[in-house]
Amino acid sequence: MDSPSKRRKKNDSKPVSVSHRSLDFFFRKPSQQSESNGQPTRNEVVTKAQLPAPGHDESNSGQPLTDEELARKLQEEWAKEDAERTGIQNGHTSPTLVEDREHDTENDKDEFVASVLEEDGAAGQLPEGNKKGLLGLQSTASEEDKITLTVPFDQSPLTFEPAKYVTELKRNWGADWGDASYALLVRCFVLVNSTQSRIKIVDTLVNCLRVLIEADPESLLPAVWLATNSISPPYISLELGLGGSAISKALKKVCGLDGAGLKNLYDKHGDAGDVAFEAKKKQSFTLRKPKPLTIKSAYQTLVKIANSKGHGSVEQKQRLVDRLLQDARGPEESRYIVRTLVQHLRIGAVKTTMLIALARAFQLSRPEGADFPIRNPAELAKLKKEDLAVVWSKAEEVVKTCFARRPNYNDLVPGLLEVGVSDDLLLRCGLTLHVPLRPMLGSITRDLSEMLTKLQGRDFSCEYKYDGQRAQVHCDDKGKVSIFSRHLEVMTEKYPDLVALVPEIRGDGVSSFILEGEVVAVDRNSGELRTFQTLTNRAKKDVDISTIQVDVCLFAFDLMYLNGEQLLDRPFRERRGLLRSMFIEKEHHFTWVKSIDATSADSETVLEFFKSATDIKCEGIMVKVLDNLPNADLINPDEDLNDDSPAPPVPAPVTLSKKGKKGASKTKASDQKEDKEKGTRRKALLATYEPDKRLDSWLKVKKDYATSADTIDLIPVAGWHGQGRKAKWWSPILLACRNPENGSLEVVTKCISGFTDKFYQANKEKYAEGGDNTLGSMPSYIESPYQAPDAWFEPQEVWEMAFADITLSPTYTAAIGLVSDERGLSMRFPRFLKVREDKSIEEASTSEFLAGLYRKQEARIKMQGGGQVVGEEEDEGEEE
Ligand code: ATP
Repeated sequence: MDSPSKRRKKNDSKPVSVSHRSLDFFFRKPSQQSESNGQPTRNEVVTKAQLPAPGHDESNSGQPLTDEELARKLQEEWAKEDAERTGIQNGHTSPTLVEDREHDTENDKDEFVASVLEEDGAAGQLPEGNKKGLLGLQSTASEEDKITLTVPFDQSPLTFEPAKYVTELKRNWGADWGDASYALLVRCFVLVNSTQSRIKIVDTLVNCLRVLIEADPESLLPAVWLATNSISPPYISLELGLGGSAISKALKKVCGLDGAGLKNLYDKHGDAGDVAFEAKKKQSFTLRKPKPLTIKSAYQTLVKIANSKGHGSVEQKQRLVDRLLQDARGPEESRYIVRTLVQHLRIGAVKTTMLIALARAFQLSRPEGADFPIRNPAELAKLKKEDLAVVWSKAEEVVKTCFARRPNYNDLVPGLLEVGVSDDLLLRCGLTLHVPLRPMLGSITRDLSEMLTKLQGRDFSCEYKYDGQRAQVHCDDKGKVSIFSRHLEVMTEKYPDLVALVPEIRGDGVSSFILEGEVVAVDRNSGELRTFQTLTNRAKKDVDISTIQVDVCLFAFDLMYLNGEQLLDRPFRERRGLLRSMFIEKEHHFTWVKSIDATSADSETVLEFFKSATDIKCEGIMVKVLDNLPNADLINPDEDLNDDSPAPPVPAPVTLSKKGKKGASKTKASDQKEDKEKGTRRKALLATYEPDKRLDSWLKVKKDYATSADTIDLIPVAGWHGQGRKAKWWSPILLACRNPENGSLEVVTKCISGFTDKFYQANKEKYAEGGDNTLGSMPSYIESPYQAPDAWFEPQEVWEMAFADITLSPTYTAAIGLVSDERGLSMRFPRFLKVREDKSIEEASTSEFLAGLYRKQEARIKMQGGGQVVGEEEDEGEEE
C-alpha cells in the first residue's frame, strides 16, 4: 500500500549520525552501561544476538564469561563459520553454503578487518590465523552508502541527467560486482515517501529507473519487483511464507533487542519497518561488517525465501531473513527491507505509478548499446504542458496496454530494455495462453435511466449480472486448461469440474481459446442459482472432483482469443457470435449469460429484463455496447451536440488484427481518450475488449442502485469495548476509506448498527486484544480524529456499508479538500451490510468515491429544492 502522510513527515533522507564508541565501552560491565544510557548495552546486543544464554559459557563451567572472553569466543565461532562458508577449513564446499557464497565475495573476510578490536590493539592478542576476517565490532555509521544520498532523484526528469552520476555510482558499486546497490533504491523510496505530490513521486521513480537503465540495466527488473512490493505476478504462486515471528527473531538477533525492547518499539511505532528503523538506529555496532545489499541480491534473497519449502525451510528462511537484516546498512535500508518482508512497502509505487514511470523513463533513457529512439529532454522541456502530457500519455498507454495483456514485469521490462516504448513492444506483449490478461471492468450507473441516456444511439446487450466468481478459462491446442480469477490467481485446482468440462463444450472448430464467464453455484438438477455465499464454501485448492459438494455452472460472456488469434479488437457482437457458435452448451454446467439486445428506445423491455434478473437473485444487469459504430437509425438529428451522450465522430471500423501486424491494436481506448483531448464533444464508445479498463461501453446496473441506496466499502480499523450487553465485543467500530493519493486510510465513521451477535462474537475473536490482528498503537498511515480507541485493528477486510446520508463533518477529515477545504466527510446512520469477501483492502472505496457520493446527494437535494447536509456527528447509527 501507499505511504502514509504522517510517516512521510517523519522521514528524513539525511544520513543518520551514529557516534563512535571505543572498545572499552563495549567491554564495560553491563550494569555500568545500562546505568550510563538506559539503552540495551552492546554487550547485551552481542550476547542476545549470538548466544542462547547471555554471557554464559555453556560448553564449559556454566560460569559467566567476561566480556572479553565472550568476544573472543564469538570471534572464533564467526571465524569457523566463515571458513566453512568458503570451504577452506574442510577442504570441500558444503552444498548449502554454495548459495551463500553467491552473496559473499572473496574479499569478504578482509572487509571484516577495520574492527574496533584491531584499532584497540586487541587483535594482536589473537592467534595469527585469526587476525583477519574475524569478529569485528563494526561501526554501522561507516557503512551507509553516502554516494547515493547525493543523487537528486526528485528533480524533474527533464533536467535530471543520469550520466552525471553514473560513473561515480558505478565506481561505488564496483566492489559488489558492479551491481547497483540496494541503497540506491532505498534513496528513491525515502524521497518518494517524503512527499505527497504524485508528480514528485513519479518524477523520483522515473529518475531512479533511468539511472538503472543507463548504469545497470540488469538491476532494473529486480528494482521494479522490489518497488512494487512483489516478487512474481499473481498467477505464479511465489509466496514469501514468512510469519511475523521470523522478522521479530531477526530483529532481536541482528539488532540485539530482547522481547520487551522489541514490544516497546512495536507498541510505539506499529509498523514493522519503523521498528527496524528504530532498532537499527539504536545499534551503533555490528558484529560483522555487513555485505552491502544490492538490488539483485535483495530480490534474489526474497525469491530464495519464497522457494525454500519442505523440511528445514523454516530455519532456512530465518537464516535468509537474518542475513538480509544484517546486511542492511543503516536504519533506512533496514526499514525498507523489513517493509518488503512484511509486504507492506507503502511507497505508493503501485502498479499504475510504476507503469507510468517506466513509460516515461524509457522515453528519456536507454541502455548502452540499444538503438531504439528516445526523446531529447531539452526539447520536451520546451513543450507546452498539454503537449508534454500528450507525449507522456501516448507512451503510458502503450506500456499499460502491454501490461494489461501480459501482466508480468518479467515480460515487460526485458521488452522495454530491448525495444523501448514501441509498436514492437505491443507485438511482444500479445495475449498468451495460460497467462491471464487483466479483465475489462464495468462502470457504475446509478439506475436504468442513466444507463439508457448514456447509451443513446447505440445497440447494446443487456445481460444478467450473476453473483458468482469471474473466471478466465484458457485452453491450448493440446487441451491443457488453466482457470484464473478476476485478480489473476490460478483457480484451476478449485474447479476441476470445469476443467473436465472443456472437452465437452469445445466445438469441433476450436483448437485454443480464452473465454470469460461467471462461475455460479447452482442446483445441478433444477439449474436454480445458489448464492455467492454457497460458492464460497468450495475449497480453494485441491478440490477432488469426486467429492464436490458445491455444483457450479459457468455462464460464459466473452471470448478474447480463438485458435491462435486474439479477438480483443473485434466488436462485442462478433466476439459473442463466435462464442455462441463455436462452443456447445451443456445444461446446468455451461451456458451463455442470459441476455437481450436493445436500444435506449426499449426502456420497458429493459426494465422487465432487469426485474427478471433480480427475481432470480442476480445482482442486476451488465449492459455492453455491441458495435463500434453507432446505429445511424437511432441518431436523432435534433439532438443537442453539447451534451455528453454518445454519437459520432467515430473512428474507422476496427478490423481484426492479424498476428504480426504492427501496432494493430494499441489505440482503441486511447482513441476514445484522444477524441476527448482533441476537444470532440462526443465520446466514441467502442465495443472492443479493453483489458484492465473501466469504460462506459460496459455498464453495470445493480439492484442496490435502482433503489438509489448507495453503499460504500470501508475498512474496519479500530474498536471500543461495548457497553452493557455488548461489553464483550467491539462496539462501536471505526471505519475508514482509502486515500490512494498518499496511501493513508481516512477514518469516516463509527458504526454500531447492522451486526448480529454472532458477527460481533466472530469479530471479537478475529480482533482479539493482544492478538495478531490488533495493533498496539495507531498506525501512522491512519488519519483519525480518535487517537485512542480501545484497540487498533490490522486493516485487512472490507465491509459494505449502507448509510442515511453523507455529511460535511466538523470532526472527521476524510476527503478533506475534495468537497470542502475545511471539513471532511462522514455519514449518518451507518449500517453494516456484509463483508466483501471478494475485495481486498486495496479495493475499498476511496475518499474520492466518498466525495462523489456526497456530490451526487447534493445534486439530488438541489433538484428537490433542499439544502446542504452538514454533519451532526450521528455517525454511530441507531442501536440495534
Ligand atoms: P468490478 O469488478 O467492476 O471492479 P466489483 O468487484 O464490485 O467491481 P461488481 O460491481 O460486482 O464487481 O461487477 C463486476 C463483476 O460482475 C464482474 O467482475 C463479474 O465477475 C460479474 N459478472 C456477472 N455477470 C456478468 C456479465 N454478464 N458480464 C460481465 N461481468 C459479469
